[in-house]
Amino acid sequence: MSDFDYDLFVIGAGSGGTRAARVAAAHGARVAVAEEYRVGGTCVIRGCVPKKLLVYGAHFAEDLKDARRFGWQVPSECEFDWKCLQQNVLAEVDRINTAYTTTIENSGAEIILQRATVSGPNEVTLADGTKKTAAKILIAVGAHPAVPECPGHEHGITSNEAFHLDAIPKRILIAGAGYIANEFAGIFHQLGAHVILMNRTKEILRGYDLQIRDRLLQISMMKGLEFRFDATFEGIEKQEDGCLKVSMSGHEPVTVDLVMFATGRRPNTDGLGLESAGVELDDKGAVVVDEDNRSTCASIYAVGDVTNRIQLTPIAIREGQAFADTHFGGKPTKVDYDCVPSAVFSHPPLAGVGMTETEARQKLGSVKVYSSDFRPMKNVLANRDERALYKMVCDGETDRVVGIHMIGPDVPEIIQAAAVAVKAGLTKAQFDATVALHPTMAEELVLLK
Ligand code: NDP
Repeated sequence: MSDFDYDLFVIGAGSGGTRAARVAAAHGARVAVAEEYRVGGTCVIRGCVPKKLLVYGAHFAEDLKDARRFGWQVPSECEFDWKCLQQNVLAEVDRINTAYTTTIENSGAEIILQRATVSGPNEVTLADGTKKTAAKILIAVGAHPAVPECPGHEHGITSNEAFHLDAIPKRILIAGAGYIANEFAGIFHQLGAHVILMNRTKEILRGYDLQIRDRLLQISMMKGLEFRFDATFEGIEKQEDGCLKVSMSGHEPVTVDLVMFATGRRPNTDGLGLESAGVELDDKGAVVVDEDNRSTCASIYAVGDVTNRIQLTPIAIREGQAFADTHFGGKPTKVDYDCVPSAVFSHPPLAGVGMTETEARQKLGSVKVYSSDFRPMKNVLANRDERALYKMVCDGETDRVVGIHMIGPDVPEIIQAAAVAVKAGLTKAQFDATVALHPTMAEELVLLK
């Protein structure tokens, strides 16, 4: 037993902090976790969970249209009640928030609902001025939406506020073309808004396979979404009628009812006192850590989005688990960042694991690419002119599948299973040796020519 108040003090009860706190406590450590807002963090409170529920809600717009082709008598003027969806989603957020709180408490860790800042290598200061000491401090404070500097930026919202809107706007301009921009573009479009996506470059979803994101762009344009590329904000002006006039470089100004920034996320390290303990930050404000999640201060560690490695919930959870097992469970563990599957819950969704075709061509001597470009059976009967595209990238020498990239209905569900095979290093021949499950979309993966 050390002289410190705790063995571990975790700052931030999001995905990474919660996992680390409860696992360390289960290993017998005396743990406290401080949270300034709500237990659950970005993913549960204002990210993955409520977003996915909105995606489900929004998708009914297409499902209801398609239902007619399947014989259902759906009135032409189907009414959508935003407040109903919003209340149900926020109630589910409350339920998970409670479940997270209970899980932490049941593990024996103490929850302190206050902001905590670092005031030394082994000391934190709570918002009420109380000081607590700990043998180790874990920074798991996450990140926040970054809003570009431009005159009138205060008139815009971020994804944080999107869940609390009074009404769905008639016209929305979304800045950025990454995960959040494309996911919310789909949600707002399906719920009846006219959507304009504006990005500083010509690319959407940088990092994903080129052909897959081109397909999303084509489908989005076909659905009526507008894009403004190579555009930077010159200003947002609030007009007398409350509308927002957005001026941008290279394009005519547009007038919309709402502007939403989805231009990346920055680590929440401002004012956290990390300098008092000699914790080094990178140029984006992220805590610099080694592969054991240790910062440049020997007693301070960090996991999750605040380290800006891969900003995904399951990664934060793995990092939290590895940290707790390594330091409190006597089981040194490192997170493996290779072949992390990811998905964008756009309309339609896209997903990928492993190397894109471009990456494989840069890294491997020879590459073979197999693809299937098809109209899913359901879309055919629904008269929906939306094609799916599956790509498999293989090492030309060894036949090993090094990447799978997909766009189409339910591909995030499919990629999770396919990722096991890619991670296991299976070959194209082993995929082909698996009998197709007919009729599914996923069967294309074992029938690629
Ligand atoms: P992304 O990094 O995905 O996209 C940021 C977008 O904003 C890009 O289009 C980028 O342009 C543009 N951009 C970046 N900086 C600026 C700037 N200063 N001015 C103007 N435009 C800018 O970030 P998101 O905000 O969409 O999401 C943040 C993170 O959250 C993601 O990286 C992801 O890891 C995670 N997330 C994951 C989800 C999932 O797993 N489904 C869902 C939502 C978020 P360009 O690329 O052209 O430079």
